[in-house]
Amino acid sequence: MKQQICILGSTGSIGTQALDVIDQHPDLYEVYCLTANNRVKELAKQARKFRPAAVVIANEAHYKELCTLLEDLTDIKIYAGKEALDQIVEAGPIDMVLTAMVGFAGLSPTIHAIKARKKICLANKETLVVAGELICSLAQEYHVPILPVDSEHSAIFQSIVGEGDNTIEKILLTASGGPFRNHSLEQMKTVTAADALKHPTWEMGSKITIDSSSMMNKGFEVIEAKWLFGVPSEKIQVLVHPQSIVHSAVQFADGAVKAQLGVPDMRLPIQYAFSFPKRLPLNGDRLDLFKQPLEFFEPDLNKFKCLALAFESIRQGGNMPCIVNAANEIVNEGFRHGKCSFLGIGDVIEQTMQRATFDRSPDYDTYIQTDAEARRIATELMNK
Ligand code: NAD
Ligand code: MG
Repeated sequence: MKQQICILGSTGSIGTQALDVIDQHPDLYEVYCLTANNRVKELAKQARKFRPAAVVIANEAHYKELCTLLEDLTDIKIYAGKEALDQIVEAGPIDMVLTAMVGFAGLSPTIHAIKARKKICLANKETLVVAGELICSLAQEYHVPILPVDSEHSAIFQSIVGEGDNTIEKILLTASGGPFRNHSLEQMKTVTAADALKHPTWEMGSKITIDSSSMMNKGFEVIEAKWLFGVPSEKIQVLVHPQSIVHSAVQFADGAVKAQLGVPDMRLPIQYAFSFPKRLPLNGDRLDLFKQPLEFFEPDLNKFKCLALAFESIRQGGNMPCIVNAANEIVNEGFRHGKCSFLGIGDVIEQTMQRATFDRSPDYDTYIQTDAEARRIATELMNK
């Protein structure tokens, strides 16, 4: 029986690479549903090739166009709107849901998928940043596995396979350092979105590429690792590793360190999330360790304030990471559209953390309110 996959965000960087993986294993995987936000032509093209049972366009304004583009394919059901995402992930035949959409918007469909007992292949890290505790307790309650797609978390996961109850002494979370690794604070004052979008080692969607340049992405990954592996943030060390070859590592009680290495290629963690515990063949480049030295540096928390703020949000707990995420979504977009300076990103987030209502033990409704409040505050601060 082929595994039926639903891809939330199929037109993005992770989504298209996931389709490449599925394309390489037509005997194992079948696309049940594809979804996108705006890129309707791309979605229709994918549907024509993969013939899913359903497609969803989250932005309803594109519904008519999508219907026209797929007019002749009468066996494909077409839906639109956010609620349609929540509903489609519950469809009976679906075995696993790849959450490859961006931001807070991924939270609701992920919760629906867990409650419908679908295996989660999690790329949408914002879901765990915002509501890690809720997601993990739901996954436990519904006996649903959450398989990491983020390369670092996949590396950690691959390093603990077979370790049973052996406790993790420390997680070594690697970071490329982004395009501004060697910039001075002075130089960082004037960098533009175009500069930030030139990531040295990974080709990704624009939101995460900006998050990587500010190192907020790494802060989010610390939070993601805390929830996925149950390790407190004090035991998660961030290492700047410009070559992006060691994708992360785990240290055990006897001092042994296990890592997963490879060329930067997101298809591997995507495929491993699909196929775990099996490893399947994957075409592509192979690692040549003679090619370059592997270096590791300590991150500079003065230069990369966002990383420090993420650590601070974990320390405070409650809805603070949700506040940071919401403010970050606002300034990230603002920076891309020239409404916020690069260093302004950290400043607005810091001030939003001070102003938004703190809640020590949030539930789902709190997250919705917090997200809205923090977005409003961050927008005001940014436009000041
Ligand atoms: P992307 O911008 O390339 O693609 C995002 C996809 O989600 C698109 O298909 C888009 O249509 C859809 N989408 C965006 N906003 C939506 C909304 N509000 N409602 C419904 N659909 C929406 O992004 P990406 O780089 O593929 O990243 C996707 C997720 O995976 C992010 O959470 C990111 O942090 C995570 N991630 C990405 C990479 C990577 O290499 N790209 C690595 C690790 C983790
Ligand atoms: Mg990552």
